[in-house]
Amino acid sequence: MEGVIAHVDMDAFYVSIEMLRHPELRGRPVVVAHDGPRGVVTTASYAARRFGVHSALPMVTARRRCPDLTVLPVDMALYTRGSKKVMETLSDFSAAVEVVGLDEAYVDLSGSPVPQSRAREIKHRISQATRLVCSIGLGPNKLMAKIASDLDKPDGLFVLTDENWLESVGEKPASLLPGIGPRTSERLRTAGIRTVTDLARAPDGVLEGTFGPRHGPALRELGNGVGSTALTTERARKSESRETTFPHDVTDRGRMLETVDALAESVCRSLAGHGVTGRTVTLKIRLTPWRTHTRSRTLPSATCHPGTVVGVARELLERFNPQAPVRLLGVGVAGLVADEGYAPLNVGADGRFEDGEGPERDASAEGAPSGPGSQERLAL
Ligand SMILES: [Mg+2]
Repeated sequence: MEGVIAHVDMDAFYVSIEMLRHPELRGRPVVVAHDGPRGVVTTASYAARRFGVHSALPMVTARRRCPDLTVLPVDMALYTRGSKKVMETLSDFSAAVEVVGLDEAYVDLSGSPVPQSRAREIKHRISQATRLVCSIGLGPNKLMAKIASDLDKPDGLFVLTDENWLESVGEKPASLLPGIGPRTSERLRTAGIRTVTDLARAPDGVLEGTFGPRHGPALRELGNGVGSTALTTERARKSESRETTFPHDVTDRGRMLETVDALAESVCRSLAGHGVTGRTVTLKIRLTPWRTHTRSRTLPSATCHPGTVVGVARELLERFNPQAPVRLLGVGVAGLVADEGYAPLNVGADGRFEDGEGPERDASAEGAPSGPGSQERLAL
């Protein structure tokens, strides 16, 4: 088997890291979230997911669905250090690693005689290095690898090939595929296309007729699992951005602010995952019909701190003060530089995570519980 890409995706990453320092919460419904009236769930534990609590859900709804929910604040510095351990482990397996975010990466395993055993080895090594569990998808390209990593979660290993692609995902909705958002889904449904197989087998006239001579065939390729094999391994990114097209144009300011928050946080997670920070925050606003505006502000120093970027992006939105329904919102950070404060990961004797600087702290002086086994358990 040649030309194999692995997509490594940490399972419930933030929550799983939190459980290393809160072992008493294992098996319980837990979320990591920015609490507050407009807060949304960042990551939910698998126990919480059984109550219908998942990421991006408003905290108000999460608490209603699961009154017993434990809510932990977001500790980005900690997850960044955990992520660094994971990515270091991956770099032992291949020179070509594309970091996609704090908790996911593509690894080129081409040339490996038995990619499945290589993948099992990766899972084992990550678990040894961090005590965390991941799912791995293998495929001939990034698209299949990414979809495969989601098919057997948590602690999964799934292989997608041209042969088993439709058999494995053909019955799933076409929106499973990256790039098929709510609007495209809706247009596909109107054309009678619901599943991945529908898309893969769509007659020429239907896709080209609805989506045009370029986008139409591209969608069919997506349905057939055709994807890129090129990994972006260099870290010299100039900017990072996220945008959302609303299924229906939005006039509610609260909804806009929530969206800006989520986009800014997602950008910051990615920046942190790449160990970079940036100085210029840009807000993109598209009003109907197709009028796109951008507003930017350059900060005195580079950051990847979600609080800072959220604050600036919100302010840019308030100042722009859209006077027409909003179709799309985007948040970007540019002027990226390597983050000098990218500290190695250490765990103190008390099981606390500390930055890799300064003299050792006397854990017992802080009154923190310490006991045999805690060091071993908290190997992160
Ligand atoms: Mg994940």
